[in-house]
Amino acid sequence: MTQRIAIIGGGFAGMTAAYELGKLGYQTFLFERMSELGGLAGTFPIEGTRLERGYHHWFTSDTHIVAQMEELGLGDRVQWIASKTGWFEQGKIRNFVSPIDLLRLDTIPFVDRVRLGMAVAYLTYLQSSKNNLAKYEKITAMEWWKKYGGRNAWDKVWSPMFRGKFGAEAENISMVYIWYKIVLRIGSRKGMTKEALGYPRGSFQVLIDALENAIKKQGGKIFLGATVKRVVVENGVARGLQLAEDVMTRVGAQLNCAPTESFAPFDRVICTAPSFAALKIVNEFPPEYVAKMNAAKYMAAVLVILKLKKSLSPIYWLNIADRTIPFVATIEQTNLIPPEVYNNKRILYVSNYLAPSSPYFQMSRDELFNAYVPHLQKINPQFSPDWVEEFWHFKEAAAQPIMPLNYSKLIPDYRTPIRNLYLANTTQIYPEDRGTNYSVRLGQEIAKMVNQDVKTGGK
Ligand SMILES: Cc1cc2nc3c(=O)[nH]c(=O)nc-3n(C[C@H](O)[C@H](O)[C@H](O)COP(=O)(O)OP(=O)(O)OC[C@H]3O[C@@H](n4cnc5c(N)ncnc54)[C@H](O)[C@@H]3O)c2cc1C
Repeated sequence: MTQRIAIIGGGFAGMTAAYELGKLGYQTFLFERMSELGGLAGTFPIEGTRLERGYHHWFTSDTHIVAQMEELGLGDRVQWIASKTGWFEQGKIRNFVSPIDLLRLDTIPFVDRVRLGMAVAYLTYLQSSKNNLAKYEKITAMEWWKKYGGRNAWDKVWSPMFRGKFGAEAENISMVYIWYKIVLRIGSRKGMTKEALGYPRGSFQVLIDALENAIKKQGGKIFLGATVKRVVVENGVARGLQLAEDVMTRVGAQLNCAPTESFAPFDRVICTAPSFAALKIVNEFPPEYVAKMNAAKYMAAVLVILKLKKSLSPIYWLNIADRTIPFVATIEQTNLIPPEVYNNKRILYVSNYLAPSSPYFQMSRDELFNAYVPHLQKINPQFSPDWVEEFWHFKEAAAQPIMPLNYSKLIPDYRTPIRNLYLANTTQIYPEDRGTNYSVRLGQEIAKMVNQDVKTGGK
């Protein structure tokens, strides 16, 4: 009989796992607590189109998701656009794309710029093999840069960026993070000077819709607004899922179980929820596995999205190195995608990564807006709240996992110690940093593993 596989989470990992298992003939049941699919890459309606709640693009190294677009007939939607990256410090915007831009970075002495450039070139071209992982995961980025790139490279360049992205954790971040990001990011460029970024015409929603349709066409079932309350485990084996009573009443018939049943039975369960959320619905993991699930901590993200009459700056991605400014970057979507797509409005993300306990994470939409306005005026003194036609506010608690040193020995296995229960979330993406491409790869890997286990009677 066909195995019934439950998937918890409708982000790219969960949708891809369902799609791949559907292709192999399994009956899939996907449960997403939100009212829409997409997870962290989900979108909202704006000016007759859709836009990601958090800015999203691809690098040319993101081959898995681009291949998935092609497989689903969306190859012609993939567009590659030269991007403009900048650096804001001491009241000035500087371009920050090419080695020439680095040489012009007048916030540090010239000799330090050359040393920094050489260190980046060394990492990119001589250290790109994954075999170097052991070397870079045992040292923090701060120690490495101070030792090999010069104190100024850390104090004036990486430290402001890291403090912005990782807050109090900045000095503890492993060098793996920056080593592999440099390898992938500069590898993403056509030639030395240009960086091409990918974005799907019509937004990431086109792929979300295509996956949803493909899963349903295969006979898979998707349940939205369906929070999983518990993974039911008996004698060390996952037996099914407990859903909220109202959800069970709503969808019980489609699961072939009576509303009176205490849980919906499944043969196997894949959980793509962040680790802290997974630990809330599974009580039976042994302490060693729980320790691994807790090894990576999550940073939260707070996004304010402004629909503007005018452009803030000519830059797509502006790193804010000025630490008197309470956000880490501005991302002007309409400097990547033409404003015509959004009825000639300018779209600006104001981005912050922080601990969920930060006051900025707790602030309301209006409080954040009021706190940010004077700082937007530092970037462009002409900026006025009158430019803002509409604005939105989104928060994500599990935006960015932070891996500790020597993380390769701490990654939780996909096959959990509970038989027939699999874990697939962003803490298992390493040494690459989390991203939609790697969640697609994760979903593909998990589907393959489940199929192998079913075929061999394993796990
Ligand atoms: C601000 C920001 C910017 C980003 N920029 C980029 C970018 O430029 N390019 C890029 O490729 N990636 C980017 N990413 C990362 C990318 O969005 C994620 O890595 C990817 O979408 C994660 O997919 P996932 O399926 O692994 O996890 P998620 O998207 O987190 O999916 C997990 C799902 O599980 C659901 N869930 C949790 N608990 C339960 C439960 N009990 N019951 C039912 N459902 C549950 C959640 O609601 C969620 O939908 C960005 C992320 C953020 C936050």
